[in-house]
Amino acid sequence: MLIRWKTATHPSSLLLLATALIACLLLQPAEASLGDRLPEFRECVEVCDHENCDPNNDPTPIPLHHRLLFWTCAQECDYTCQHITTTRRVESGQSVTQFHGKWPFVRVLGVQEPFSVLFSIGNFLAHQNGLGRLRERVPSTYPMRWYYEVFAYFGMASWVFSSIFHTRDFKATEQLDYFGAGASVLYGMYYAMVRVLRLDLPTPRRRSILRLWTVFCCALYVAHISYLKFWRWDYTYNMTANLIVGMVHNLLWSCFSWARWRETGQSWAIWPSMLVAWIMLAMSLELLDFPPLWGALDAHSLWHLGTIAPAVLWYKYVLPLTTFEETLLTVHSFMIKDSQDLAKAVKLKDIKA
Ligand SMILES: [Zn+2]
Repeated sequence: MLIRWKTATHPSSLLLLATALIACLLLQPAEASLGDRLPEFRECVEVCDHENCDPNNDPTPIPLHHRLLFWTCAQECDYTCQHITTTRRVESGQSVTQFHGKWPFVRVLGVQEPFSVLFSIGNFLAHQNGLGRLRERVPSTYPMRWYYEVFAYFGMASWVFSSIFHTRDFKATEQLDYFGAGASVLYGMYYAMVRVLRLDLPTPRRRSILRLWTVFCCALYVAHISYLKFWRWDYTYNMTANLIVGMVHNLLWSCFSWARWRETGQSWAIWPSMLVAWIMLAMSLELLDFPPLWGALDAHSLWHLGTIAPAVLWYKYVLPLTTFEETLLTVHSFMIKDSQDLAKAVKLKDIKA
């Protein structure tokens, strides 16, 4: 947008880490943004609106690619004034401050948070390629394959919503992002429980537990969405809820890893716990709320970057491994039996000698 600034420029350890994460999120004060309360910012917006947005005063046209992303004249002024105010503050040795609860990002082609969009697309591709790999490596007869495929679909959908939200932040796109991420995290916990306890196996007891577990998780999601949508849009609650569900998911896979490692002593058994630890570390980046480097790279985008590699490795190793886990365990028990037989044979030879 060609904004006439002649008047606007008037002088003016896993468990410890998890506990720390929850504590920090709960203790975080409800921060109102300083930036949009600054007099110089307010004055800038007022002058800009008058100069550019008044239909009776030859309004400045908005470029097509901005209009396609629903930028209005008032929003163009708000964006431009955020950067004018920030530049002035930095030049006079003051800190960069947030506006309307967000850091002043430099948009690219109208995209508000370009790195978060780029990394969200990276995550989407990791799940999409993972789905292809899953279909190649996991036989269709394996009962858990259906659950793994749904996991990939949830992942893909939530990262599409994330890309849309970071392209343009509106109430509706924010809700889509939050609800999509919530569904994805909750489904992660759901299928982890099914896999770890093998609730997919067709025994009457398992079937009943699976039914109860499914109803419980669906009810949890409906309650979560209803609370946010009809009661209170609460950022801290949303983050805490996702964090708790994510931790149960991590705990389930860590128990799985521990049990298999004790059983076999094989390195493949530690893959799930390694990857969930990686995700926890990436998640802790969310706590480092610093102004975006070069106006674009912030802690939130780095958290989205940090989840790409574990997603790739999850589909590459963990899901195929858990599919052939029974085979691996059988091979391992045969190996133990063989070595015991060998030891017995050697002993017998010693006795005979
Ligand atoms: Zn995000």
